[in-house]
Amino acid sequence: METLATPELIAKYEAVIGLEVHVQLATRTKIFCGCATSFGAAPNSNVCPVCLGLPGALPVLNRQAVELAIEASLALHCTVNPKSIFARKNYFYPDLPKGYQISQYDQPLAEHGFVEVMADGAAKRIGVTRVHMEDDAGKSIHDGFKDSDRYTYVDLNRSGTPLIEIVSEPDMRTSGEAYAYLTEIKQVMQYLNVSTCDMEKGHLRCDANVSVRLRGAEKLGTKAEVKNLNSFKFLRMALDHEIARQVALIESGGRVVQETRLYNPETDETVSMRSKEHAHDYRYFPEPDLVPLRVSDAWRERVRERMPELPASRRGRFLADYGLREYDAEVLTATRAMSEYFEKVVATSGDARAAANWVMGDLSALLKEEGKDIEDSPVSAERLGQLLALIAQGKINGKLAKDIFPKMAAANETAEAIIAREGLESISDEGALAKIIDEVIAANPKQVEQYKGGKQQVIGFLVGQAMKASRGQADPAVVNRMFKEKL
Ligand code: ADP
Ligand code: ZN
Ligand code: MG
Repeated sequence: METLATPELIAKYEAVIGLEVHVQLATRTKIFCGCATSFGAAPNSNVCPVCLGLPGALPVLNRQAVELAIEASLALHCTVNPKSIFARKNYFYPDLPKGYQISQYDQPLAEHGFVEVMADGAAKRIGVTRVHMEDDAGKSIHDGFKDSDRYTYVDLNRSGTPLIEIVSEPDMRTSGEAYAYLTEIKQVMQYLNVSTCDMEKGHLRCDANVSVRLRGAEKLGTKAEVKNLNSFKFLRMALDHEIARQVALIESGGRVVQETRLYNPETDETVSMRSKEHAHDYRYFPEPDLVPLRVSDAWRERVRERMPELPASRRGRFLADYGLREYDAEVLTATRAMSEYFEKVVATSGDARAAANWVMGDLSALLKEEGKDIEDSPVSAERLGQLLALIAQGKINGKLAKDIFPKMAAANETAEAIIAREGLESISDEGALAKIIDEVIAANPKQVEQYKGGKQQVIGFLVGQAMKASRGQADPAVVNRMFKEKL
């Protein structure tokens, strides 16, 4: 078991964190060949001489991959370089058939951006150093438990899948900020459809660089890099663990060595994987089979024009246009699908407050119960909007609407169809209500006496009785007025 520093000791230090995030671009085909990128195909079926690294095969850059990378760069407020260079990053690995990765080195696609996050109740800007394009390696699959039966298989379907790497400045100070930064990146990439960011499939991968220094110190400490962070939860846990480990090490007179560590979520520990003191020499050199990538102003602007509204601006618009609360705007823009659903409900119902309450309340509960995403909601946004419009028009009350809503999901019907079938129209016709009101007055002489004696609040009880007698169909405002007139 490693020694970890106590919270008191940790408080003397400040952590410094920089993230390297890999995002798999959502292209149909690979970055340098026409092979499909589809997930789950039979091993080694989506391959060709280019992505198998056969001698003499020539890469051809995928235009769609470049455009997605430009979109990502612009969304991260980066400057897209008019000229960038692909470079060979040489290393040996069984699932890297070329013997090198095609990446970008000293002239990346884009630089000097930032991401704005909310962390610990404050807005914070985190610098993005660079965004570069590269191809992915294949996959090694380790199988078998007994020595006699232990094999490693290589699947090259993933080889040549397009990635971008987003490198941050060492601007984060807590695991919470790192979590918020990665969340924002994921959200933006999903809004853009640049990537599915499905972490389980490895479409979003994150390595974290961490160092600590005494509070107030200028100089950065020596960093360790933590790999294998395949969930948001693990990112936070690994960072907190690594910070506590480094502080304990320094406090006991040791020093942090520059190395790569692997996080093991089962033991909540990081273990050294390889020292970086003899840093890898990848012998980068410009890829001779590819011309420099040139992005003209016109091309960049064409890409910019077709980008959708991004989450930050949509949050701001929801606050301004619909008068939503900060928290509601946050939740309703969490995904692009959710925000689009909400806006359709508002367009149909005209009532943003009610739409927010219903989408975050009854609809979310229903989706959770049925294990569905909002894209597959059993009640469409238009139909939920129609239901809310009926409430706004006084045709049904809110309580009745809550009963109708699950029926709309179960029967795949509109609210109006259910109301007509079950005879649920709200009763605001005074003739029909007068009879109910007379009955309630006759049945509750004591409460009527109290009301007449000046106990105003008893009217609530009487209205409640009338609502019950009408099976919730009476319009409570009308009932209330009629009681007052009658008594
Ligand atoms: P390397 O050459 O080891 O890859 P880089 O300078 O390219 O290091 O930085 C890689 C990542 O590490 C970046 O996200 C950067 O912000 C972060 N980083 C650099 N120095 C530190 C440090 N002292 N502490 C924490 N993170 C750091
Ligand atoms: Zn191929
Ligand atoms: Mg680096």
